[in-house]
Amino acid sequence: MPTDRIADAITHAQQGGIAVLYARRHWRLLGRAPGAAGTPLPELVDWAIRAVEAVRFKRVDPAFIADMVEAVIPRAWQERVEEWIVRDLPFDGATALTDFDCMKCGACCFDNKVELEATDLARFKAAGRDDLLRRVSRQKGKLLLPLAPTKDKPCVHLKQLKCTIYDVRPHLCRDFPVGTENCLSSREELYGTPFPQGR
Ligand code: SF4
Ligand code: SF4
Repeated sequence: MPTDRIADAITHAQQGGIAVLYARRHWRLLGRAPGAAGTPLPELVDWAIRAVEAVRFKRVDPAFIADMVEAVIPRAWQERVEEWIVRDLPFDGATALTDFDCMKCGACCFDNKVELEATDLARFKAAGRDDLLRRVSRQKGKLLLPLAPTKDKPCVHLKQLKCTIYDVRPHLCRDFPVGTENCLSSREELYGTPFPQGR
């Protein structure tokens, strides 16, 4: 990539957007790093990394660019990312204000992999939900709640587009941000469009 385009990409990410770079034989996503050590990633960056199912992210060498994180975009997601880039070309600037209401369409509860945190286990325990605790499994050091029995099937706790464990639902379900790439992709996958009518 020409250096002026790299500079543009860095500026875009510094201004709060998500930039995509082809560098060192990989497609990479570039976003702002957390402010101080121990603080979480900016939400947009966090969910962009989740959206492409990047295996991990790391801070860019500060000798190269300060206060940035990067993540390799898996090959399976590159075509989709290209579509997002084309979709967002008409927008000026690094970010655009949008106004989305959750359509309560349940699409984010399909094909979902929900990792648990200690707070989720504590919530299940406090609520006496031993049934949920018994279903927790550990894979590669991660705690998982089996939600979708097979791909393209909804979470087992989704009934008539309503979460039946709403009060104790995992933190990832609580924090799932409406209007992000993940929300739009989920809606598009289930309904064929990110903006289903009548939902
Ligand atoms: S996919 Fe988006 S709009 Fe639909 S229920 Fe989930 S957060 Fe709400
Ligand atoms: S636990 Fe509830 S909110 Fe989370 S994926 Fe399942 S149905 Fe959706």
